[in-house]
Amino acid sequence: MALSQQRQEKNKQNFFLENELTPQYAVANEVMQLFAPSNNLSIESKMGVQTDTLVDDFLSAINTNSDINFNDLVETFADSQVPINPTNFDSYLDYLANNVINHSIHTSSPRFIGHMTSALPCFVRPIAKLMTAMNQNVVKIETAKAFSPYERQALAMMHRLIYNFPNEFYSEHIQNSQSTLGILVSGGTAANIIALWCARNKSLGAKNSFAGVEKEGLAAALDYYGYQGAVVIGSELMHYSFDKAADLLGIGTHSLIKIPTNANNQVDLPALRQAVADCHAKNLHIIAIAGVAGTTDSGNIDSLLDIAEIAQAANVHFHVDAAWGGPLIFSEQHRQKLVGIECADSVTIDGHKQLYLPMGIGMVFMREPYLASSIEKNASYTMRKGSFDLGKRALEGSRAGMALFLHAGLHLIGLKGYEFLIDAGIEKTQYMAAQITTMSEFELLSQPDINLLLYRYIPESLRELAVKKQLTETDNQQINIFNERLQKTQRQAGRTFISRTTKTITYLEKETSVTALRAVIANPLTTKDDIDAVLNDQIQIALDLSISDSLEPTQSRA
Ligand SMILES: *Cc1c(COP(=O)(O)O)cnc(C)c1O
Repeated sequence: MALSQQRQEKNKQNFFLENELTPQYAVANEVMQLFAPSNNLSIESKMGVQTDTLVDDFLSAINTNSDINFNDLVETFADSQVPINPTNFDSYLDYLANNVINHSIHTSSPRFIGHMTSALPCFVRPIAKLMTAMNQNVVKIETAKAFSPYERQALAMMHRLIYNFPNEFYSEHIQNSQSTLGILVSGGTAANIIALWCARNKSLGAKNSFAGVEKEGLAAALDYYGYQGAVVIGSELMHYSFDKAADLLGIGTHSLIKIPTNANNQVDLPALRQAVADCHAKNLHIIAIAGVAGTTDSGNIDSLLDIAEIAQAANVHFHVDAAWGGPLIFSEQHRQKLVGIECADSVTIDGHKQLYLPMGIGMVFMREPYLASSIEKNASYTMRKGSFDLGKRALEGSRAGMALFLHAGLHLIGLKGYEFLIDAGIEKTQYMAAQITTMSEFELLSQPDINLLLYRYIPESLRELAVKKQLTETDNQQINIFNERLQKTQRQAGRTFISRTTKTITYLEKETSVTALRAVIANPLTTKDDIDAVLNDQIQIALDLSISDSLEPTQSRA
C-alpha cells in the first residue's frame, strides 16, 4: 500500500469519518498530516528549505528596513476573519514574505545601531528548532526532566560570575531544590518585578500573629509594622519597568522615588542619602534601593559600591538593574565598572541584549539562596512543596526551555568569547565618539561609559555658537526640531538607523532638555566603516533638510 493510502486508512480509523468525500474528512486529513511525525519529514524538510531561503535573504540585507509608509502597511492587516479551511504552507509563506518579512526591521544589519537588539550568532537558529521540537515546559519536572537541573546549572554559572562565592557554596546550592540562585524569565522587566516582589515579601514578612504581606496584603502589612507607606528608591533614569513593579506591588508609581542624576547620568549620591533620611523621618518603609548598571538611555553605570553602602547602612534590599551592562562581568578590562554589583541582594541581566541570545531571556539572580522562598507558591496537582519544580518560585507559569540558548551561549561563546564581544563594542563606541568630536556637523553630548553614545547634529548657522557653548534656549529648540526631523527621515529612508532620546544638559548655566541622537554599538558585525557610513548618511540627510523646513511645526513624536 502506498504511504499516502496508509495514512488515509489510519485517519479514517482515528476519526470514524466513514465518508471520505465529506469536507470534514478533507480537513481532518490535512490537519493530521501536520501532526504525523514519521510521514512528515519530507513535508517538513521542504518547509525548512523554503524558510531557510527567506532567512538567508533577511539576514544578508544591509539596509535597515523597507521605506513603505507605516500607515499603508497597517492597512494590509485590516481583515479580522479566521480562514475557514487550512491554508497551504507555500501560499502562507508567500504571504509572510510579501507582507511581514519584507517590512520587518533588519536588526542584524551592521548599520542598524540605534537599539539594544542586534545580530545573533548562527547557532541560535538550529538551537531554536531543537527547543521548539522538544517543547519542554520548564514549569515542572513532569514536563521538563533534564531541563530543570540544566537550567539551574546555567544560572549558577552566571551567579558565579557576579558573586564569585567559594566552590562549596555552589556545590551546596546549585541543585538544591530549596535554593534559588537565579530565575529565568522573559526579560528584564519581569526580572526587575520579581526582584522587588521578593524584597517586598521578605521585608514585610510573617511575624508573631501577622501572616506576612504575601497573605494579608500591603495595607495590613503597613498597619502591622506601623509604617505610613512603602517606597522604592532609584535614579531618575531607572527603566520604566520599575513603574510597572511599583504599580503591581501595590505601592503605586508615586511611591517610586526618582533621584536626580549628575552630569554623567549617575544617581546623585547626596540626594540619595537625603531621600533615605527623609523616608525614615516620614516613617516610610523602603522596600529596595535600585542601582542601574547601564542606563537604557545612555549606558552610564551608577556608583554601585556607594549605593551598596547606603542600602546596607539603612538595612534595605539593594537591587542592581544590569539588564544592559551586566555582561561587562565577562571583561577583565571593563568589569571594574560594575564594582559593587557583588554586594547586591538581587541582580537583573538580560540574555537577549549583550549575551547575544534571542528575545525572551531575562534573568534575576539572588545573593541569598533562600530569598525567593518569600514568593513561593504551590499547587496540589503540581509544584508540590519540596519538589524540584522551577515554577514554584516564579512569576510566570508555563515556560519554554530558553535555558538551551543560555547554556549553549556560555559554552559556544565562552568567557573569552563574550569578553571579546564586550571589549570590541566599547572600542568601536570610542571610535565613534572620536569621529563625532572631529566632525563640525555634530556635538557629542556626553562621554560614553560603555557602548551607548548620545550626540546631536548642529545646523551650520549655529555651529559657532555651539562650539562657544553660547546657544540660547531658542537655538536649542531649533536644534531639537532639526534633530527630530533628521532621525525620522533617516528611519523612513531605511538605509541606516540611529534612535533618539532626550538628555538634560547645561547651557549658559541653565539646565535644558535637548533631543539627542542615540547610538548603541553592540552588533559584532558593525565595522568602523559602517559607523562612518551612518554618520555620513546623517550628514547627507541633514543637507537635504533645509533649516527653514525645520522651523515648521512638526508632528507629535511617533
Ligand atoms: C532593556 C532594559 C530593561 C527591560 O528589559 P526587557 O528585557 O526589555 O523587559 C530593564 N532595565 C534596563 C536597564 C534595560 O536596559
